[in-house]
Amino acid sequence: MAGEPQDDCLFCKIVAGHIPATLVRETETTVAFRDINPQAPTHVLVIPKVHHPDAAALAAAEPAIAADVLREAGEVARDEKLESYRVVFNTGSGAGQTVFHAHAHVIGGRGMQWPPG
Ligand code: 5GP
Ligand code: ZN
Repeated sequence: MAGEPQDDCLFCKIVAGHIPATLVRETETTVAFRDINPQAPTHVLVIPKVHHPDAAALAAAEPAIAADVLREAGEVARDEKLESYRVVFNTGSGAGQTVFHAHAHVIGGRGMQWPPG
């Protein structure tokens, strides 16, 4: 069923506590934890506890939880005292998505280029 935990999904394992992560926030529907390979002084991933392969699929199936992810991205930025930051949803392997469980990257604490690479 859509949204059910997937045995082979890294982020479902983090949600279940089977793989450790440095959690920074948790709500009923989301978890936020530090990226293992940070690309900036702040690099936090905000994920829904339910499994959907990408942000668009999450928004289509469970729009309230997609909104929770966005709200939590803002709360992470506030906790980290970021005045400027970027929220990124890599979607598809060509855009750099490597984990197919929807997640927002919250990146900040350094200058950033636009357009992105
Ligand atoms: P994507 O490339 O799919 O947009 O983002 C996946 C992110 O997950 C990458 O930035 C990668 O560094 C991070 N990541 C991969 N494995 C782990 C892990 O085991 N723990 C944590 N905290 N982050 C991970
Ligand atoms: Zn998953």
